[in-house]
Order: sequence, then C-alpha cells, then structure tokens
Amino acid sequence: MITLALSKGRIFEETMPLLAAAGIEVTEDPEKSRKLILETTRPDVRVVLVRASDVPTYVQYGGADLGVTGLDVLLENGNQGMYQPLDLRIAACRLSVAVRADYDYASAVRQGSRLRVATKYVGLSREFFASKGVHVDLIKLYGSMELAPLTGLADAIVDLVSTGNTLKANHLVEVERIMDISARLVVNQAALKLKREPIRRIIDAFASAIPPAKSPAP
Ligand code: AMP
Repeated sequence: MITLALSKGRIFEETMPLLAAAGIEVTEDPEKSRKLILETTRPDVRVVLVRASDVPTYVQYGGADLGVTGLDVLLENGNQGMYQPLDLRIAACRLSVAVRADYDYASAVRQGSRLRVATKYVGLSREFFASKGVHVDLIKLYGSMELAPLTGLADAIVDLVSTGNTLKANHLVEVERIMDISARLVVNQAALKLKREPIRRIIDAFASAIPPAKSPAP
C-alpha cells in the first residue's frame, strides 16, 4: 500500500491532474465526504487528508509515504528527514509583508521604528526582518491575518498572497515580497527504499505533468 498525504482545498485540487498522469484517480470527493482516508482507482494507493501543516509530520514519521505541501509549511515547520524530489509548481503564491494602505512602511523602516508584525510564519518572519536589520515584535496568529492591521493589533502582517484580492478587499497593500512559494512533493526516505519501484513511478509521472513555469507576477 502507498499512502499519499494531502490537505483539502487548493493542494488537493491541483494535485489531482498530477495523480491522473500517474493513472490514479481519487474515487471520492473530499468536500462531500467526511472520510479521512480516500480510496483511489488503484487498490494499492490511498490518499489521507490532513491539515497542511501536518503533512511533513505524516511523511517524516511514515504515517504517509508521500505528501504534497507548500514550501511555506516546509520552511516554517521543518523539512528534516524527507526526500524532496520535485517542485510541483502548483498552489503558487508568494510570502509577503502587507500593511494598511495609509501606513508609511518605508518611513517606519527608515526611521528604525519597532514594528508589530502579526503572522502565522513567525520563524520565516523573524529571519526575514533580522536579515534587513528591522526590529520587530512578532505576534503569532493562526488565521485571518488581514484583520490585525485593521484592528490595531499590528502594524504589518506576513502572509501568503496569490491574486492579491484578499489584501485589496481589506484595504491592505503589499510592501515586500519575501519569497515565492509553491507546493513540493515530499517522500519518506525509508519508504523510498522499501517501495522503490512504485514510488519512483509516481514521482516520474508527477514530474512529467508539472505545469510549465510562469513568468513571475509584477
Ligand atoms: P489571494 O486573495 O488570492 O491573494 O489569496 C490570499 C489568501 O489566500 C490569504 O488568506 C492566504 O493565506 C491564502 N492563500 C493564498 N495562496 C495560498 C496557498 N498557495 N496556500 C495556502 N493559502 C493560500
């Protein structure tokens, strides 16, 4: 049996064409079913649904042989002990700093002000602002980051931006792009040795179906 860990939503949907290239179809819709283990058209392949931030844990400890997860999750929550053969170029977005449209971020940075930054990505944010020599107090949030500058909880947020529509709807503007993010395939190292052939075939099929690189957004 080969177990693939996915999170619901964008990662699940955008992994389906890659699975199809490997001749694998998930036979249940995760949005309609409450099941956490989904069967596929291949009796030896199943999909487990886990939280995005739990995918590396499942793969690292062998709860799943393979997983698909964002580079943001891998860098923030750890990527030890896993083989990372492919950038799948799906669920593409960027990790950015955003502020209220009426907040003068450039002046605050120039003046050496201490910024309050709300984010789910405390580790990546700490690293980024330290590399720029900007002093920050980081406030950990688990969701709805966009609300923090609107309520006075923080001066800035660090969050994923895809179309920019969420920022726009909340009168926020992107002031720094920290890094480009996309989903990665991760593989348990012991599984790769023990189930080498079937896992290799899946990796190769995924590789053949990766969407072409897009030129970076302006
Ligand atoms: P958008 O409005 O398209 O810029 O999307 C921004 C919202 O979607 C934010 O709440 C982000 O946290 C979330 N988001 C955007 N891209 C991703 C992604 N690839 N993975 C997870 N969340 C994302």
